[in-house]
Amino acid sequence: LRSASAKRLLQWYDANARDLPWRREPNAYRTLVSEVMLQQTQVATVLPYFSKFIDRFPSLEAVAAANEQEVLSLWQGLGYYKRARSLHQTCREAAANGLPQTSTSLQKLPGIGRYTARAVASIAFSEPVACVDGNVERVLARYYRLELSGSRLRTECERRSALTMPRQRPGDWNQALMELGASVCTPRSPKCEVCPLAAECGAFGSRQTCEFPRPKQKPHPQSRFHVCVVPLYDGRLGVRQITEGRWWRSLWEFPKTDLEPNEQIEDALLRLGAKRCEPLGIHNHSVTNHRVTLHAYLCRRRLPGLTWLSQEDLATLPMPAPQRVVLRMAAGALPQ
Ligand code: SF4
Repeated sequence: LRSASAKRLLQWYDANARDLPWRREPNAYRTLVSEVMLQQTQVATVLPYFSKFIDRFPSLEAVAAANEQEVLSLWQGLGYYKRARSLHQTCREAAANGLPQTSTSLQKLPGIGRYTARAVASIAFSEPVACVDGNVERVLARYYRLELSGSRLRTECERRSALTMPRQRPGDWNQALMELGASVCTPRSPKCEVCPLAAECGAFGSRQTCEFPRPKQKPHPQSRFHVCVVPLYDGRLGVRQITEGRWWRSLWEFPKTDLEPNEQIEDALLRLGAKRCEPLGIHNHSVTNHRVTLHAYLCRRRLPGLTWLSQEDLATLPMPAPQRVVLRMAAGALPQ
């Protein structure tokens, strides 16, 4: 940012910073607790938990002396309990050896990632390191009209923020950018008319605020080939419930498998226990970034390990959309 913009941003922050409990009587411990609680959680949600936590544990030594269950019980309802366990461990290590004062050493503690380490180091220990979250990215991407996304955008924002950061107030600088992104430079309707950066903001100047930041590039689509068999026996169709770790867990499907590289469809069908099958058709569809080609077959045999249902039962069974397509393909072969 130009120095005039930077100055105006800090003045704006001084006048508009929200009165948050961790900003009152700040110290390293309170900053640490607030930053850990704010990971993946909104400020409004954190407020009551922070106060309750600080009342019960006024210092990191108090957390260190408590048992894990007590820490977890105060965290109850805030979610992501791994954070509470890591914070407990961090406080134990810090009570024994002191809380590190640089972002690099803080990042070695349990549950402290790059962002949290930089937030704590800049706010509590005035280390001049930039910390960039989604809010800061949005502000800087718009201000500089950055044609980047993903990790390259984050790296560039860290670099640019560090270049302009006033050395005497690194913590306030980081918080000012975050606060501006959260309250003024919002994703959909930024309030540019009250923004302290408007005079030099590139996106505002070119009326392109909503075109920045650029959307993340989607991963390249991957091709997959599925082989699916509709087993028909005694007027009923065989289905199975989809197990943990697969797409559409707990829904129901006809036996299905991935076609391995260089594998013949007949061999894939044999792996499903199906022989002498009749082709039903091919269905192309997408799942996340996968482009799936599904080959469907009918097998008039009783395959093992399946649940056998009538067409009527199948009509109300929760099935993934591609499986419904397969069922429709099979309809012509079914007894009416
Ligand atoms: S002028 Fe508008 S787009 Fe630019 S930083 Fe301010 S709020 Fe964001």
